[in-house]
Amino acid sequence: MKRILNYINGAFAAPIKGSYLKLYNPALGLVYAEAPDSDEADMQLAIDAAQKAFPAWSNLTTDKRHEYLSAIAQKITDNLEDLALAESIDNGKPLALAKAVDIPRASSNFKFFANAITQFSSEAHEMKGTAINYTLRKPLGVVGCISPWNLPLYLFTWKIAPALAAGNTVVAKPSEVTPMTAFLLAEICIEVGLPKGVLNIVHGLGEKTGAVLSAHPQIKAISFTGSTKVGGAIASIAAPLFKKLSLEMGGKNPNIIFADCDYEKMIETTLKSSFANQGQICLCGSRILIEKSIYEKFKNDFVERTKALKVGNPLSEDTQVGAVVSKPHFDKIKQYIDLAQKEGGNLLCGGKAVKPQGHEEGWFIEPTVIEGLSMDCRTNQEEIFGPVVTLIPFETDAEALALANESNYGLSATIWTQNLNRAHQMADEIEAGIVWVNTWLMRDLRTPFGGMKNSGVGREGGLEALRFFTEPKNICIDYTKHKLNS
Ligand code: NAD
Repeated sequence: MKRILNYINGAFAAPIKGSYLKLYNPALGLVYAEAPDSDEADMQLAIDAAQKAFPAWSNLTTDKRHEYLSAIAQKITDNLEDLALAESIDNGKPLALAKAVDIPRASSNFKFFANAITQFSSEAHEMKGTAINYTLRKPLGVVGCISPWNLPLYLFTWKIAPALAAGNTVVAKPSEVTPMTAFLLAEICIEVGLPKGVLNIVHGLGEKTGAVLSAHPQIKAISFTGSTKVGGAIASIAAPLFKKLSLEMGGKNPNIIFADCDYEKMIETTLKSSFANQGQICLCGSRILIEKSIYEKFKNDFVERTKALKVGNPLSEDTQVGAVVSKPHFDKIKQYIDLAQKEGGNLLCGGKAVKPQGHEEGWFIEPTVIEGLSMDCRTNQEEIFGPVVTLIPFETDAEALALANESNYGLSATIWTQNLNRAHQMADEIEAGIVWVNTWLMRDLRTPFGGMKNSGVGREGGLEALRFFTEPKNICIDYTKHKLNS
């Protein structure tokens, strides 16, 4: 059985206590590997290594840091096939998705921040004839990055790349549910000769390893992506220690469909925004609001296309919906489907476990569409994070807006309309950090990424990430009294 290891001070390290966690292949429901069940002592080694590496790494020229990060980006691209396969086996996602999205994006994350750091500048504020202020952007020191299981390498690198680019050294903790590609990233870092201690990857349970990282006095900032509950727990520990915090958390995103939309584009994209990655994307549009005049047509077409989605072996080229990530998550999704029916929801399709041939023990769930629920019920308020969407009709723009905003979450929203004024007005008033009009998941890495309300604090992406991972220091020079020699 494959055993993965921590990556500390430039080398692989077994957990000090020798304890390991089981890793499951969700498509088979079987243990296939094991990962360190690290504790405080392992974390301390990683933090010490990062601390020691900080002076040299933070004093490197940006050109040199650019070279290291570009080399990592290139290696990820070179290893696309192996990384995608590992991601699919570890997570249950379709291999085709890992090849097309997860791994290319992990490479882009490094490439983007390798380039961004060479363009990062700070401000000067002149007090005419009196003084000049200039602002330095100093790296923070050792920072912690904690990531979830739904887009394992994609989100792990989205945090690590800007942290390293800005001159910090990093201790990173991937999800214990899907740590395999983080381990493979460590191999890449060794291959490209990343100086030891600059990046350290410690595997283990959130409440054990992750909590140590969040509470550690030497960690200057925590960049976290995961559930709102855990984000709150981290904030309660890290905030009183005055650590910088970036929290990217859950979503219950509205997908608002007006009758005047480009229908074919909308329905094709809505299938993806509902069920891509088994609905396990924080940006999935799980609350579908439909203008009443096209409700019945949409419902029939959408259900028909949902039923046609191919659920099965993630490694098959034609699979559209793979396995959900774990048995506990499978059970949670099933409980929500039961709850939706208890709350009075009408199951239009899906709802059952699927047992594809040769994968009878895997954790597959049919894509599920439910109607007939009010916005205030638990099904429409809580994040299910699975292949489950609800349909809700509306009559006016104002009603659509009110329904969309009736949520404690505020991560993203999608609006489908050809009416420019409506699009701008809705986009302006909707309570979400990211709004897509006539598209979904279109990303420009320069733009701010993050949520409002219970979906997040702070923004990632582009210069926002480089600002988060640096501390501004203003220097004011008074030059009034100096007389120029003539
Ligand atoms: P999770 O919150 O359970 O775990 C996320 C990470 O935090 C894991 O590495 C976990 O080990 C760690 N962790 C758990 N308890 C901890 C603690 N007490 N202290 C420190 N670290 C701890 O989330 P998950 O189940 O892995 O991922 C799914 C969630 O992530 C969903 O809510 C989803 O919406 C969210 N998510 C948000 C975004 C975004 O950008 N906003 C992106 C992807 C996923």
